[in-house]
This record gives sequence, C-alpha cells and structure tokens, in this order.
Amino acid sequence: MTEVAASTKRNLLDLDREGLERFFADTLGEKRFRAHQVMKWIHHRHVTGFEQMTDLGKALRAKLEANAEIRVPQVQFEKPSADGTHKWLLAMDGSNAIETVYIPDKGRGTLCVSSQVGCALNCQFCSTATQGFNRNLSTAEIIGQVWVAARHLGNVPHKQRKLTNVVMMGMGEPLMNFDNVVRAMSVMRDDLGYGLANKRVTLSTAGLVPMIDRLGEVSDVSLAVSLHAPDDELRSELVPLNRKYPIGELMESCVRYAQRKRGASVTFEYTLMKDVNDQPQHALGLIRLMRDFDNRLQMKDAAKVNLIPFNPFPGTRFERPDDAAIRRFQKLLNEAGRIAPVRRTRGDDIDAACGQLKGQVMDRTRRQAEFRKRLQAGGVDAAA
Ligand code: SAH
Repeated sequence: MTEVAASTKRNLLDLDREGLERFFADTLGEKRFRAHQVMKWIHHRHVTGFEQMTDLGKALRAKLEANAEIRVPQVQFEKPSADGTHKWLLAMDGSNAIETVYIPDKGRGTLCVSSQVGCALNCQFCSTATQGFNRNLSTAEIIGQVWVAARHLGNVPHKQRKLTNVVMMGMGEPLMNFDNVVRAMSVMRDDLGYGLANKRVTLSTAGLVPMIDRLGEVSDVSLAVSLHAPDDELRSELVPLNRKYPIGELMESCVRYAQRKRGASVTFEYTLMKDVNDQPQHALGLIRLMRDFDNRLQMKDAAKVNLIPFNPFPGTRFERPDDAAIRRFQKLLNEAGRIAPVRRTRGDDIDAACGQLKGQVMDRTRRQAEFRKRLQAGGVDAAA
C-alpha cells in the first residue's frame, strides 16, 4: 500500500469529537459515526493500530492507515511511589520530556497533567520556572498523558474507575496554551473519551485574567486559582504575573467565571511558605478576600481554599513552614468558617509533589542552558 509521509499523516489524538467527525467527513469522505468508533478504540481500549479496529471495514482501515496515525507519548521512565503515587516521564519529541503524576486517594484517583514544556511565568517558588519556557504541548501531547495513565491503570470509563479526576496542575500555565488545553479537556469530558464530569476536570491558573473570561465562554470545568498572597505587594513578588493582573482584577474575573456557571465555587490555592506568607495577618487578609468573593456571588462558601505546604526543590530560597505554623494558619481560616484543607504531600519520595515537576527541557536559549549547567555543576539533578 502506498503511504503518505509520516509527517503529513493526521495524528488523531490531536482531535476532539468534533474535529474527528470533520476529519472523517471532509478528509476521508466517511460517515461521521465512524469517528465515534475510532474514538472508543483509542481512548477506551487504548488501541493505536488501525488494523486492530475490527469493526471498521478493510477499505476504511487502509484509508486511515494512509492518512492518519495515532501517535502517543513515549514513556521514558516511570516511577511508583511508596504511597501509590505514580510518575511518568514522557518524551514529547527528540529533546523534550514532561512529567505526569497519578495520585490515588480514598475513592478517587487524580491525574496531574502538564500543559507546556517548562513555563514562562517565573513564579518564584516553583521548580518548573527554573527551567524557563520551551513550547506549548499539542492536544495529542496533553490528552496523551491521560491515555498513558488510563492504559497503565486499565481504566475503562463507566466501570470501576481508577482515574476519576484530572487537574491541569502539572508543568506549565494551561491558559497560555488555551486552544490545545480546551480541546484536550473536551476529550477528557467526552463519553467517547474519558467520560469525566465537568466538576472532575480542574484547570489551575496563576491568574491570566482575560483567558479566565474566555474559558468561561467555552467551558464549564472547575477553576482553581493560584493565589498564594492576600495583597498585591507580596503577590507580585511571588507571582510576577500579578503586576499585570492584580488581585482586584483577578478576583473580579473569578466572580464572572462562577456567575457564568450559575454559582459554582472557585478554589483558591495557597502555597504556605515559611515567614513569607504564613503569618496571621496573611490569613486574615485571605479571609477578607474570600468573604468579599462570597458576598459578590451572594453564596456561602463560594470561595474554597486549598492550603499547600511548600514543597522544596534544589536551589530554592523558600522553606516549608513547620506543622504548628500550618495548623495556626488553618485554624484562623476554620474559625472564619472556611474548611481550608491542607493538601497532603504525596509522592515526595519520587519528586512528584506540587511544584516539583521538571521533566526535561533541552533546546532552549543559551541563558537557560547555562542555568542548567550551573545546576548540574552544583550536583543538582536538573534533567529528571
Ligand atoms: N500554572 C498553573 C498550574 C501549575 S502549578 C498555576 O499556577 O496554577 C500547580 C500548583 O502548584 C499551583 O498552585 C502552584 O502555585 C503550586 N506550586 C508551585 N510550586 C510549588 C511548590 N514548590 N510547593 C507547593 N506548591 C507549589
């Protein structure tokens, strides 16, 4: 059979249901429902060879072979943690790799998915920031992470699920890779994909205000916002993006997002750093912000708070507060009527905790390459 060059073949993992239907109708001249069969083969049965898709006719399989491929990320290595957490390093192309983490918990299993190779936002306390930004991940590379984890778990939608939640909280800022992330989330939520309910897919952002509004227009996923400080002075230091979109504007965009979703809650993440943002006055400031948010929405508990004790990484100047300081901060929130769970550190024995994901970012500017060399010279394992 004559085949077109690999590079011109369409990677079907790049398409959501609508895109795949269009590909079948417009490119292949086939009925749209054929796209549904193929989606199930890919995402429910984890099949990547068209010859195995036995409910498609021979002619269609040959046509698919000639025009399409199903290219999934290559597992470079995987590491199970003592606590059941599982981390994959996935090769994205010749020189880049990203990390994906599966975190099982009582009655649920959450996959933490990356959206970019590296990150451009330079949040001061995040290990991904130290590698700089390389590129956006494609839709195939984002949904491919879910595909790899689901295959490993033997996950089948609608049966005893092991993969029940996805959080876009891995490497990168998902709202800086808007279209690919939205398309991948559509496959996560699709019954022909992973069948996750909207509230079980969470997008976490450092606060890209215009894109929060755009997300509200096209999607109903849960929103998490990385706040980390109750005032602009401190937040601008920790999250430089705050200089562009200060807290007031950020909170307003969250109000609009929740209003569009008819009063859904928004989760505010707060990474606790010793002597930086863990003092009582910070807790009180946070309480005020959360109360204002509830008032704007006229809804009790519209603002959820998630406390994340800082996870250290080599070279960082920040420290994790001691348990007493974490409890003190939490208690103040509790007394103001906020539940504020402290996120348990999972998978820290395999560097899989929040803010510890690095992957491999190879072909970047010289400045970044030199930074890596410095890290390595310092005995730091910057590669993986
Ligand atoms: N760019 C997105 C998603 C990636 S980070 C965002 O900023 O939300 C996922 C969460 O981990 C964010 O809340 C981030 O601020 C937090 N985080 C980053 N580094 C951390 C660290 N070293 N310890 C604890 N949490 C960290």
